Amino acid sequence: MMSQRRGIHLDQSELLCKKGCGYYGNTAWQGLCSKCWREEYQREKQQIQEDWALAERLQREEEEAYASRHQRAQSQPTTTFNKFEERKTKEKSSKVNTVTKFFTPSTKTPPKKDSTPLDAQSSPSPSSSATRHSSGDSDHATREFIDFLKPLKSGKEIFKQCRAFTESMVYKRDLGADELSECVQDFYQSLSERLHTQFKGSTDHVESIMDEVEKYMMTRLYKEVFCPETTDDEKKDLAIQKRVRALHWVTIEMLCVPVDEEIPEVSDSVVKAITDVIEMDSKHVPKEKLACITRCSKHIFNAIKVSKKEAASADDFLPTLIYIVLKANPPRLQSNIQYITRFCNPSRLMTGEDGYYFTNLCCAVAFIEKLDGQSLNMSSEEFELYMSGQAPPLWPQVTGASSCSPGSTALSQVHQRLDLLTGLGERQERVMVKARQLESDLIDWTDEVDQKVQSVLENFPPQTQNPAAGTDDGTTSAASSAIDSENVENELLPPPLQPQVFAG
Ligand SMILES: [Zn+2]
Repeated sequence: MMSQRRGIHLDQSELLCKKGCGYYGNTAWQGLCSKCWREEYQREKQQIQEDWALAERLQREEEEAYASRHQRAQSQPTTTFNKFEERKTKEKSSKVNTVTKFFTPSTKTPPKKDSTPLDAQSSPSPSSSATRHSSGDSDHATREFIDFLKPLKSGKEIFKQCRAFTESMVYKRDLGADELSECVQDFYQSLSERLHTQFKGSTDHVESIMDEVEKYMMTRLYKEVFCPETTDDEKKDLAIQKRVRALHWVTIEMLCVPVDEEIPEVSDSVVKAITDVIEMDSKHVPKEKLACITRCSKHIFNAIKVSKKEAASADDFLPTLIYIVLKANPPRLQSNIQYITRFCNPSRLMTGEDGYYFTNLCCAVAFIEKLDGQSLNMSSEEFELYMSGQAPPLWPQVTGASSCSPGSTALSQVHQRLDLLTGLGERQERVMVKARQLESDLIDWTDEVDQKVQSVLENFPPQTQNPAAGTDDGTTSAASSAIDSENVENELLPPPLQPQVFAG
């Protein structure tokens, strides 16, 4: 059984960050956790900035040397340098945005708003398209956020910063998804650090505030940053959807999923798991999307537990999650994973059950993308044949099926029906043979009847024939030609036979 599952088995350590920090990793961050990925990203970015600075210095030195030689300054720098300058300016301005604008909200909002009391009505600036898009959701989120912050001493300050940041994001629409993600993650990080200083030691309290911050901000930013046009998220969505459709023939037995859907409680859990993972797309807040994955996973664990009559292991979980994803084909799966990865509060992804189940879902998707014959216990030729739709999969032998899932009555029912169909086909074939036999028998019989009728006619000539032919022997040969031409009925008899009859 273990060897059969080799293709889908995943060591639990593979879920963790490759840096060995102990947090959950993610394929979107090349196997690193959110923290290590950001460190890596920032190191790379710093390296790029250092390279730019060096290039800039070298360029300047070269220009100075050239200018001094030719006694006039180079007014037209090279094209490459122009581009390079442009990028650098962009980079700098984005840095200014992420650092200054987060914490000086008054630069974006009119001064009047700073003096107004904490109130939902005063928050949206008329030019903010994020507000215009989903005003219903946004207003509700704003009100809830304010209600949550009211009892806090620094509530007003937190709200002002979050609002200013959210509004500043609208002006960054042209940035790539990674940059947008970095802006948001920077904001989460600095706010959470300051909250930690403020509420010394109370991590749970800080986390609950951060959850509300994420909910408020992402409800307002959802339409701007979910599956943005600057990414290939949509292309990836379509690719995985197509892939899942092409894998429609994969059975519970092929994946060695220890789930017996004949048990009502199990099939109920399977349906709920499918519903939950599909529902993820309808949520706008990363944490709410994560909650769908967690609910889905808990239903899966229940389905396994009831089927096996013992607690489910992590080894059982991943293949079952793959099965659920294949059955559900959740809408915009990659976009949702990317959105969570980019904009979720990082501590929710790095630890805890939400993080664990999310990492498993990412693994399940990665498995589906590279699923092959070996992971389904079949030859690669067979796999390709089924994938291309050239042949329907052969049903696994009863022995093979029982080694995976002994209680699969659904499959044995299919077997029975297939046997029945095969039997019917054979019977029809036999009927056809008999029918053909009957047909040829009928022809033979008709011939026989014909012959008999003929011989009867020969032995007992019809009375319409000239009685003289029978009585007067002397006139036979002379009369016969005369009779032939006169009597139509005689045409039915073959002419050569007639003399013989009379001769006999
Ligand atoms: Zn790490």
